[in-house]
Amino acid sequence: MEKCISCEKKTVDSVKFPCPKCGFDLMRCNKCRTLSIDYACPKCKFVGP
Ligand SMILES: [Zn+2]
Ligand SMILES: [Zn+2]
Repeated sequence: MEKCISCEKKTVDSVKFPCPKCGFDLMRCNKCRTLSIDYACPKCKFVGP
């Protein structure tokens, strides 16, 4: 199971999307996505909503 990068909780209800800057695969749960919680790419440190 993968971890949401915003809330760091393990989630089944998640969406995978590429980092807009470096293309690294990021995982975010639907809750954080809906609430537009900030995330930071672990690879390039890009921060986005
Ligand atoms: Zn989350
Ligand atoms: Zn990145």
